Amino acid sequence: MKATRKDVHEAPASKERVVTALSPHFIRSRIGKVCVAIIGSTPAEMVEKALEAVRENTFLEFRLDYLPTPLTALPKIKQFLSERSEVTAVATCRRVATGGKFKGAIAAEMEVLAKAASSGFHLVDVELQTAEALKSGQLDKLHAHGAALIISYHDFSTTKDLDGVFERIRPYEPEFIKIVSTAKTLADNVTMMRFLERTRDMANVIGICMGDQGIISRILGLRAGSVFTFAAAHVGEETGPGQISVRTLNETYRIDQLDAATKVYGVAGNPVKHSLSPLMMNTAFRRETVNAVFLALQTNRLSDLLTLVREVPISGLAVTMPLKEEILEHLEKTDPLSEKVGACNTVVRSQEGKLYGFNTDVAAIIRPLERRLQLKGAKILVMGAGGAARAAVFGLKDKGAEVFVLNRTAETAQKLARQAKAKTLKREQLAKTSFDVIINATPAGMQGVKPASLLEPNEINARLVFDLVYNPLETPLIRMAREKGIPVVTGVEMFVHQGARQFEIWTGKPAPEEEMLRVVVHALRQQAEAARQTEPAKSGSAK
Ligand code: NAP
Repeated sequence: MKATRKDVHEAPASKERVVTALSPHFIRSRIGKVCVAIIGSTPAEMVEKALEAVRENTFLEFRLDYLPTPLTALPKIKQFLSERSEVTAVATCRRVATGGKFKGAIAAEMEVLAKAASSGFHLVDVELQTAEALKSGQLDKLHAHGAALIISYHDFSTTKDLDGVFERIRPYEPEFIKIVSTAKTLADNVTMMRFLERTRDMANVIGICMGDQGIISRILGLRAGSVFTFAAAHVGEETGPGQISVRTLNETYRIDQLDAATKVYGVAGNPVKHSLSPLMMNTAFRRETVNAVFLALQTNRLSDLLTLVREVPISGLAVTMPLKEEILEHLEKTDPLSEKVGACNTVVRSQEGKLYGFNTDVAAIIRPLERRLQLKGAKILVMGAGGAARAAVFGLKDKGAEVFVLNRTAETAQKLARQAKAKTLKREQLAKTSFDVIINATPAGMQGVKPASLLEPNEINARLVFDLVYNPLETPLIRMAREKGIPVVTGVEMFVHQGARQFEIWTGKPAPEEEMLRVVVHALRQQAEAARQTEPAKSGSAK
């Protein structure tokens, strides 16, 4: 759709300002909720990526500062824009001094943006520091060609004084105000969302927190009032820390469907950046048409998490390391097993804000075993004495199994055995002892963790082997067991099972377990494939 004279407006700006920019109304009627950032090292590459992106999203930001000579690229992009009238395009040429890649001075940045404005771009993005350095009237040159103005501000270290920045930008009367900060805590997202709620009726504001902890604002900022959010065209093409790919925003987080009634859940702990829980849980919510979204809440600090839970509010949590034990004292009530195990991995928040705790790890270890053998009287070895091992040992003892604990640090094994009325075992005894089940509840075998396996083949004497580690899909222990013809239970089965029970606790609906398993296995296979493909490249570049 081409802009007509009717689509442009005369802003109530200062007297000398003759404004003929596209109106925010017109722009907002053309765009969706997501602006996809397009990068490339040549104009041809940029246009190729834009052509690909436009199949699913017609709102694009061209990061001209990624090009060695942005001015010379503009004719090619102009041609693209004239042929693809459905596209709404933002031109950005951020200087190095303000966090971009453009090495030129302010005058050169303005030259690029003015040329972009006359090349069919609908919006041009000017950094606040640039605007403040310009002489009166210079910004109007951008409007002269009909482009609307975004004045943006980026803080790469903190989230503070958002209102102060807003007041610095307002006198320029841009059509859009963009304020991007960095979240150093989960609560910084609350600061950003409160700011958006305060200013949403005063201006067209875009507000985002960058960083691993800013993901909440990238997803929930829209319902707080952000006019749109930014996404990377693909994983690996992020133009800001913590940026999410457009596919993930659309398919995993269903960004288009989030509204005021959407309940928010999350996995809390550290690290959770690469957790597969958001993929698994959001898939389950979509499959069962539950109006809810599940986020990764990266933090070591329980007080920070509790602020977020109260302020967003968060309806439920999957709790992981290092918060599983610490959270217990903040719960109104827990199920008896969480208390015994001394750890809680699932929290539900009631309407009145009270927190209730459950431990779905226990059921996720017990049920896959119960499906395969009688646990009463079964002789079971648990390797490890941390949170997962505790869930296994207490759960198995509860079912009447004879449990042996073996751990790298013998004292912790002894303590757990004492508490759970289990037994300990020395490594030397292993080769001569046979079990019904051997369970690995240590990270050994996990991607990147040494040793790859705790056991030698001659030490695996069991009818069943259960490795709680789920990445990679086939751990060295699982492989060894299979080679010896021993049936196995993989960590993925536990992972999906504990997630399915959480889904049921939160929603009261049966979990779509098969679908959850399918997406997790698919993602793990893709990760393994990606790792395989980068392996030769790595060894190649090392030469
Ligand atoms: P944790 O509380 O940190 O406990 C780790 C245990 O493993 C400790 O007993 C520790 O021994 C031992 N350990 C750590 N690194 C080791 C190594 N390199 N070699 C030998 N022993 C080692 O962790 P957790 O929460 O119990 O989790 C343990 C593992 O279970 C995780 O890494 C994860 O792979 C798996 N898990 C899977 C699921 C699932 O859904 N599939 C859920 C939870 C956990 P020390 O006492 O000597 O430090």
